[in-house]
Amino acid sequence: MSKFVSHFIGGQIVGSPAGRTAPIYNPATGLETGRVALASVEEVNAAVAAAAAAAPGWADTTPLRRARILNRFLRIIEERIDELAAVITDEHGKVLSDAIGEIQRGMEVVEFATAAPQLLKSEMSENVGKGVDSHALRQPLGVVAGITPFNFPAMVPMWMFPVALACGNCFILKPSERDPSVAVILAGWLKEAGLPDGVFNVVQGDKEAVDALLVHPEVQAVSFVGSTPIARYIYETSTAHGKRCQALGGAKNHMVIMPDADIDQAVDALMGAAYGSAGERCMAISVAVPVGEGTANALVEKLVPRVRALRVGPGTDPDSDMGPLVTRQHRHKVVSYIDQGVAAGAKLLVDGRSLRLQGYEEGYFLGGTLFDDVTPAMSIYLEEIFGPVLAVVRVPDYKTAADLVNAHEFGNGTAIFTRDGDAAREFSHRIKVGMVGVNVPIPVPMAFHSFGGWKASLFGDHHMHGPEGVRFYTRLKTITTRWPTGIRAGAEFAMPTM
Ligand code: NAD
Repeated sequence: MSKFVSHFIGGQIVGSPAGRTAPIYNPATGLETGRVALASVEEVNAAVAAAAAAAPGWADTTPLRRARILNRFLRIIEERIDELAAVITDEHGKVLSDAIGEIQRGMEVVEFATAAPQLLKSEMSENVGKGVDSHALRQPLGVVAGITPFNFPAMVPMWMFPVALACGNCFILKPSERDPSVAVILAGWLKEAGLPDGVFNVVQGDKEAVDALLVHPEVQAVSFVGSTPIARYIYETSTAHGKRCQALGGAKNHMVIMPDADIDQAVDALMGAAYGSAGERCMAISVAVPVGEGTANALVEKLVPRVRALRVGPGTDPDSDMGPLVTRQHRHKVVSYIDQGVAAGAKLLVDGRSLRLQGYEEGYFLGGTLFDDVTPAMSIYLEEIFGPVLAVVRVPDYKTAADLVNAHEFGNGTAIFTRDGDAAREFSHRIKVGMVGVNVPIPVPMAFHSFGGWKASLFGDHHMHGPEGVRFYTRLKTITTRWPTGIRAGAEFAMPTM
């Protein structure tokens, strides 16, 4: 039966199929499984109005009460994790174990946010002047919005809203129109956990909904995760309208393999990091940089049979290593990058283009693909492909590897594989990338640290969740207090110097 996915505003599911809609597909079968509403400006305004109406009450709710609601929400997700994972696999295509993994990473941010009373404690200085004390408060911003990509329909929204809610803000989520169901399910579970109506709202939609949020005077801050051109646009538009903004963009993550690395460990790491979730992860490794010809030859020799042996199939099959790509258009785009790599002279060692799955002929499957002899001038090196395509760029020495990483437009994640502590420290210290792994291929920070890249991978000043998330979703106020205990300084016309 075909589903209709709509908005969640003021504690209710609202919207009808009579308005603008878009199709939702199952990427494994290629079949349309339902439609999603695309919000009008009026519907976005209704969501903002619901959030604004709830904001004073939620800001005045004690952090402990907010934390208790988030705790109940956590228990609900825990009990129904399989149900949510099935929805993710149905709309996104990723394998079920990976869908469960992303929910768990999102739940860790909820766990972090349940420490709200601790997170919102602030600083105090006694006696900053005679009889004068000073203390700082972190207060909520009011109504904040989150705009999220297709590739983590549960985890990326959960990078944002648990911290925003814990800090006392009301939230409007605009999820990806490709996999919109998770957002509404989570909204229902938050309500069930006791969240007052209007504190968390979902507007489904496309550019029209996003633009309405970016210019709405009531929206105080915008969190965005998606591709770099849109991240730049979101940052420029929202800040021009006086909003705080953190906009996380695309990536091209390099893994440097030093001559002393454990090659088997590096190959295992590359397989998961390059081909997990069909490469549709912003922290996927898409470039392997072996240092020295010997390292490159050993690496490639071990990689080729492993990439050929990748089990590609529907995400519901527990034997699948990776599922399909998200849409037919995205599959075309990834295939066109492989064509460009061949035309540019890269050596195609494993070609995933011809993969056909019996019974799933209309699905958006693409086999694992491996290129060798990729050069920094090629589009398959320069641009984010966001598919199961790994490029090997051979370099003669460590310095060339580090310079390569530093010169790239993107700076989301990177990793070095080595047994040499000196090289690892040098790399960690000097590399111009936001998240670095040492023998860890996907160094996604835990919820109590913060997630974010450098260069064209992030626009704005704050990374997501962890301490940076708390700073982003609060406004600092500093209060200086003198109690009249008989001290009379008289009128002071000079700058007070205490
Ligand atoms: P996308 O940029 O196409 O879409 C992201 C969001 O922006 C969606 O909600 C979409 O509806 C909206 N959007 C799209 N076009 C818009 C426009 N013209 N105006 C206003 N809003 C618009 O990204 P995607 O394809 O959904 O996701 C994949 C991208 O996300 C990749 O580039 C990936 O690297 C990136 N990503 C980055 C991170 C990170 O942490 N840096 C994490 C996950 C994904």
